[in-house]
Formats: sequence, structure tokens, C-alpha cells
Amino acid sequence: MPADPDPSAVCRRCRLCADLCPVFPILLGGEPSAGAPWEDLCYDCGLCRAQCPYAPGSGADPEVDVPRFVLWRRAQRVEAGRGPWGGRPRANPDLLAAAGSLLAPVLNRIGPTRAGRRLLEETIGFPREAPLPRFQRRPFDRWFRKIEKRLAKRTQGTGGGVVLFPGCTANVHDPGGLRSTVEVLAALDVRLAVPDERCCGLHALEAGAIETARENVRANTRVLHRHVARGETVVAYRAECAGMLREEAPRIVPDSATREVAGAVRRIDEVLERLHREDRFDGRFRHPPGRLLVHVGCRQTALGGDGAAGLLEGVPGARVERLERCCAGNALWRGDATAAEASRGQRARFLETVRSSGTERFVTDCFYAAELVRAHCRIPVSHPVEIVREAMDPPPVR
Ligand code: SF4
Ligand code: SF4
Repeated sequence: MPADPDPSAVCRRCRLCADLCPVFPILLGGEPSAGAPWEDLCYDCGLCRAQCPYAPGSGADPEVDVPRFVLWRRAQRVEAGRGPWGGRPRANPDLLAAAGSLLAPVLNRIGPTRAGRRLLEETIGFPREAPLPRFQRRPFDRWFRKIEKRLAKRTQGTGGGVVLFPGCTANVHDPGGLRSTVEVLAALDVRLAVPDERCCGLHALEAGAIETARENVRANTRVLHRHVARGETVVAYRAECAGMLREEAPRIVPDSATREVAGAVRRIDEVLERLHREDRFDGRFRHPPGRLLVHVGCRQTALGGDGAAGLLEGVPGARVERLERCCAGNALWRGDATAAEASRGQRARFLETVRSSGTERFVTDCFYAAELVRAHCRIPVSHPVEIVREAMDPPPVR
């Protein structure tokens, strides 16, 4: 991984990012670090890159890119055997997911108990404080293999062709949302493929395991490039996977195939908005969704655009209230005690905003926000595509 310029040397001190997170009061020189290096406080939201006028893409020289410097420093420390991250299991979420779905009945029963949490923390480093998502016995990819031939006969592709990138967490924890995605796309006559993909590599990258991240990127490029060469769009179910595939993958594996795949990646809400603009939804909405608190998370903001809120505002009968804020859940699941502690206040404020909104439905494409709200607010949580599916009520795909 190429070295990045140290932000403390190239930052122009404009202070536009000063209130974003606990990193900047230290980085900008006002507050002393309480022992930990400032980069340990970063929880990888990417918002400073979206905010900074000197970030990559701005044309500034030198560029300021705090998140990349943080990843580079972590990788260096992990390589030197000095990483504070109990990140190894997290770096291989495909393995964790396979084991989790195999052991789903046991994990779902014993995992949430006090003894179960202690065991998970001591064996695989899964932090006790992070809500434990439910594992599904039948992950999405297994369901899709059963229906894909029937689905192919049913769709002509007048709405285009896409290759779905479910992502490792959604595959085992949110197969219902992914099935909704298939039903919505099938109803809009979009031809759909779901090849054998690996985790996008983001978890490995954030844990400092750069070689694992590279292996995943190369494996996914081999599979996805065939589809991209046929003009298909790569559709990510979660913004975090979209960010990894679009922004980080071509940086750590800078070959032409990876760059071409990156150029074809879109979030699912971007694809549905395009279909909306092409009037493919005309007359298809039958049930008004009502009041929704729609989260525009940090990964969506970092990628630009309106996020899922813009899509849902176009659904007749949806009363959308936006929550544009990072939930800071990443630090918790990463198992890094320093970042988890530094971001505790931000998580608390996020959850308080959700609770005090009085909403009956929280909508997000962020895994961390979904699990935090489920665990602490007891409010039903949906992925944006589930709202679209309910509003359309398309024929089920079996
Ligand atoms: S926590 Fe977010 S805003 Fe703060 S340094 Fe890290 S990526 Fe930037
Ligand atoms: S916005 Fe960029 S240049 Fe301005 S203080 Fe923050 S990191 Fe430095």
C-alpha cells in the first residue's frame, strides 16, 4: 500500500472538519491525546474526506486524506505485529458468516446470554458491547441458487442487466432484504445475476489486513469483470460495500480490470432512482409507506448523492424525515476499545435522536445503524428496498 502524506503535515487548518469526530481536536492541535495515537480514535466513517476542501479529487496539491492515512498506519502496525485490533476474525467475515449460518440455532440461543457473549469475545474477539446480529440458517446466496433458473426465464432484461453484490453481512443477517431486492428488480424486468462473490474486503482493510483485502478484491474482480464487460452494472446492497468496490479496491489493486469494475459499481438506491427516472415504476406503487425516519449514513454521504432518502421521497405516500448522521457503530464491531470508547457519545446521541423522533419505522442500509437501533430502540428496522417492495407489492419470487 502506498504511503499517504501525514495529514498533520499537509492539513491547511481550515477547521471545517473540527467537530466531526474525536480525531480532529487532537490533530488540529487544540487537545492533547490521552495516550493513544490520534489515528486510533478514527472509526472509518469517511466524512472528513467528504468535508475537506483539499481531499482527493479536489485538485489540491498535496491532498489531505485522513481516512487513508489511518488505514495505512494500521496496516503498517499490523505488519509489524503491533496492531491493537483483535481484527483477525473480522478480517475474514466470509469464514465467520459460513460458521455462523451453520451454527445459527445454537448461536442465536446462546450467543446473547452473558456466558455466550464472554465466550464470543474471548474466542473470536467479538466485543461484548456490540449488539449480536441474528444469524439466518438459510443465507441469501443459498436461496438464490434455488430460484435463479426460474428467475432467468421470467425476466427479459428490458430494465437492463445487473450483477448483485449482497455483501457478507447481509447475506447471513439480512436475507429478507436481499430477497426484496430480487423481487423489486424482477418486477421491473431487470436481468439479475448473483455470482459467487467474497466479502468486498472492507473489514480486512479496516483491520489493517491489507493482503487479505487484496485477495478478496482480486477474487471479486475475476468474477465481476465478466459481467461488467457485458455492460452490466454492479449493484451493491450496502453503501459500505459500494465504497470499498468503487473507491478503495482500485487503490489497493490498481489494475485495469479492477478499475473497470469500480467504474460500474452503483448503490441499489442509485439503480432504483435511475429506473424511477425512466418511469419504470409508473403505476406500480399500491401501498403508501407512511412516516419513515430515513438514515443517510456516513458511507452514503461519503459516496455523494442523495442516498436512499431521495429514492423514498419519490414513493407516493411516503413521509420521509432524514437523519443525516454517522451512527459510529463501526468502532464497536471492530473490537478496538480506544475507538469504541472515543465514539461512545456519538452513538448515544444517534440513538437518542432516533428514540425522540417518535418514528415507528427506521430505514437504513447501514448494518451498524440497523443493529444498534434494533438492540437499543426496539423500533422496526428496514432496508430502503424493503420499503419499495412493500409499496409495490410485486409477485413473490419462488
Ligand atoms: S472518524 Fe470519520 S471523520 Fe473522523 S478521522 Fe475517521 S474517517 Fe475522518
Ligand atoms: S477540512 Fe481538511 S484541511 Fe481543513 S482542517 Fe480538516 S483536514 Fe485540515
